[in-house]
Amino acid sequence: MVNRKVSFIWITAVDRRNNLIVDCHVTAGNINDARPYPNRLQRIWERFGFNTWCVGVDAGYKTAYIAKFLQECGIYGVAGYRRKPHRNKDLFYPSEFQYDKQHDLYICPGNKVLKLTTIDRNGYAHYKAKCGTCEQCPLKARCTTAQYKMLSRHIWQDYVDELDSHRLTAMGKRIYKRRKETVERSFADSKEMHGLRYARYRGLRKVRAQCLLTAACQNMKKIALIFHRRDKLFGPRDPNDPNDRLLDLIFRLLQALRNGLWKVIFRKIEIYLNKKGWSNYCPAT
Ligand code: SF4
Repeated sequence: MVNRKVSFIWITAVDRRNNLIVDCHVTAGNINDARPYPNRLQRIWERFGFNTWCVGVDAGYKTAYIAKFLQECGIYGVAGYRRKPHRNKDLFYPSEFQYDKQHDLYICPGNKVLKLTTIDRNGYAHYKAKCGTCEQCPLKARCTTAQYKMLSRHIWQDYVDELDSHRLTAMGKRIYKRRKETVERSFADSKEMHGLRYARYRGLRKVRAQCLLTAACQNMKKIALIFHRRDKLFGPRDPNDPNDRLLDLIFRLLQALRNGLWKVIFRKIEIYLNKKGWSNYCPAT
């Protein structure tokens, strides 16, 4: 008897300022959660008109397609660190194979050339040495357990490397820290306070309804909290009173400062300095 588990994936996006859920999407558990990402991002822009300049995403979203999409949209993406799969420690590290971008080939530790042989349908280019080279190589025992060494590289790997490098900059660290404070908190609340650890019903449609209701409840609670904070500061307000509108503006400004307006200003300065060629302004630490 096959033991089948029913699972669903809940994809959520929150805004950086107030941690309000701006998008909520449910898919079946067998679908890669990175696949709907670009469409969801575009939907948020269409719906709310956000001028997004940075996003912080989970390590699972560090795919070549998403890295390329973000860079083409001019978005500063920061993805989490993905631990490398378990590897044989006696073998050479992949970083010991030098990639020659100009000639599109690898130089192996035995100083041999690994040339491009084919590109598969998933976009991975495969590189290997000339026939018989690896078989006669004295370093073969440290290189591969197969008949010959084969290296793979995605055709959009440069985009992934660029995305990965953001994680180590001062700005990238701040964005990722904010991600932990917002979306991870939102997930925790959904699971612990709203019972979203398990689906209450079977079927995508019903689970989607549960997730949307949970997101709506979380947002209502947060909006109520924001209004409560504002009323505590300035007292109850009348939306038709021009004085109250001014207080509203001051409150929004205070909120923006509290939630990191200075970071936006810092980012603008950083972009300006990078344009001037002072790219070491935010060194990897
Ligand atoms: S086994 Fe092949 S790839 Fe590995 S070092 Fe020797 S020649 Fe280079």
